[in-house]
Amino acid sequence: METAQLIDGKAVAANLRKEIAEQVKTRLEKGLPAPGLAVVLIGEDPASRVYVGSKVKACEEVGFISRSYRMAVETTQGDLLSLIDDLNADPEIHGILVQLPLPKHIEVQSVIERIDPAKDVDGFHPYNLGRLAGKAPTLRPCTPYGCMRLLKAYGIDPMGKNAVIIGASNIVGRPVALELLMERATVTVCHSKTKDLQAELARADIVVAAVGIPKFIKGEWLKPGAVVLDVGINRLDTGKLAGDVDFDTAKERAAAITPVPGGVGPMTIACLLQNTLEACEAMEAA
Ligand code: NAD
Repeated sequence: METAQLIDGKAVAANLRKEIAEQVKTRLEKGLPAPGLAVVLIGEDPASRVYVGSKVKACEEVGFISRSYRMAVETTQGDLLSLIDDLNADPEIHGILVQLPLPKHIEVQSVIERIDPAKDVDGFHPYNLGRLAGKAPTLRPCTPYGCMRLLKAYGIDPMGKNAVIIGASNIVGRPVALELLMERATVTVCHSKTKDLQAELARADIVVAAVGIPKFIKGEWLKPGAVVLDVGINRLDTGKLAGDVDFDTAKERAAAITPVPGGVGPMTIACLLQNTLEACEAMEAA
C-alpha cells in the first residue's frame, strides 16, 4: 500500500492566518478597530509560557491588539475573577483567554464561567459548548475547530463515516465529538475505561487521537484507508515531539494523516485568531 497523504496543518494554518491578516487590514482601512485579545497566564509552567508566547506572537503577526497578563502563582481566585470582570467590560478587548492548567487553589470552572461568553475565544464556556451541542455553534473550542477545518481543507466529508475519538477531555475529545456529530458522522468516544479500543479503531474511517501518551496508537490497529488526526503533543526524552499515534506504522496504513509537529497544533492557534475576529465582528453586529 502507498503511504498516507500528509495533512499539512502548518500550510492550512498559514493560509487562514493570511486571510485573517487581510481582514484586519480591511477593517483598519475602514476605520474599524483591530480585534483585541487578552491572554492571562498564572504561574510559571514552562509549557504554558511557550503556548502563551506563541499566541501573543500570532496575534501581533495578523495585526491584532494583544495584551498579556502574567500573574504570580499565588494570585488568588478573587484577583483573577476581578481581572476577568475588567476585561469583560473593556471595549478594546474582544477575546479573553485564561491559559490552562490553573494552580490547584483556583477552581477552573468558576473562571471559565466568569468570562463573558461573547469573549470566550477558547469556546469552553457552557453557553458556547451548549450552542455547539445544539448544532448552532458560536465560539468553538480551538483544537476541535482546527480539526474540522483540516478535514474541510482536504475535502474529507465526515458525513456517514465512522469517527472514533480516543480521549474524552473537555478541551479536545468531547467538543470534537460534537463537531463530528454536527457533520453527521457516526461518533464513538473512547477513553481510559473503554473495553476494547482496538475493536473500536478497526472500524474507524476517521480517527482523532487525544490521549496524551506518545505513539500509543499503532498502525496495525487502524482500518486501512483511515484518516488520522493526531492531536497529541508529547515531549520525548530525546527532546523531540511525538503525537499519540505511532506515525511510522500509521502512515503505511492510513489514507491521510497529520504529522506532529505541523498537523493539528498550528491549527489551534490559527483558530484562536479566527475566533477573536469572529467575536469582534459579532460584538459589532450586536
Ligand atoms: P487529557 O489528559 O485531559 O485527556 C486524555 C484522555 O485520554 C482522557 O479522556 C482519558 O480517559 C483518555 N485516555 C487515557 N489513557 C487512555 C487509554 N489507555 N486508552 C484510551 N483512552 C485513554 O488530555 P487532553 O488535554 O485532551 O490532551 C490530549 C493530548 O493532546 C495531549 O498530548 C495534549 O498535549 C494534546 N493537545 C494538543 C493540542 C493541540 O493544539 N494540538 C491541544 C490540546 C491538547
